[in-house]
Amino acid sequence: MTRRRFHRRIYLGILRQQALLCACGCHTKLSRQEGYQFDHITALALGGADRPDNLRAVRVPCHKRISALDISMIRKADRQRKAYLGTKKQRGPKMQSRGFDKRLRRRMDGTIEVRA
Ligand SMILES: [Zn+2]
Repeated sequence: MTRRRFHRRIYLGILRQQALLCACGCHTKLSRQEGYQFDHITALALGGADRPDNLRAVRVPCHKRISALDISMIRKADRQRKAYLGTKKQRGPKMQSRGFDKRLRRRMDGTIEVRA
């Protein structure tokens, strides 16, 4: 997945909007020492737009945590898509039908009788 690079001004604008605080919710001040990165609010793999309004600045440790969460959501979306498309592999034995007692017979009108 390629991501666009934006003008420096765009990133500075995001930082200013966030008042230099981490956008993950921890509200820790972003620092050059610790490092910070620009995160896609909705991951690209989950259909998020590669636009400045889908970007936020987060501390590196926070970004790692968010990315791990994104990956689990991406995996889940993949599983759901596969299941929907019917390409999911069969895991384990197929569900066994309860079947029908062969000593009984169901007549066309729905009544059940014991076979002679
Ligand atoms: Zn944070």
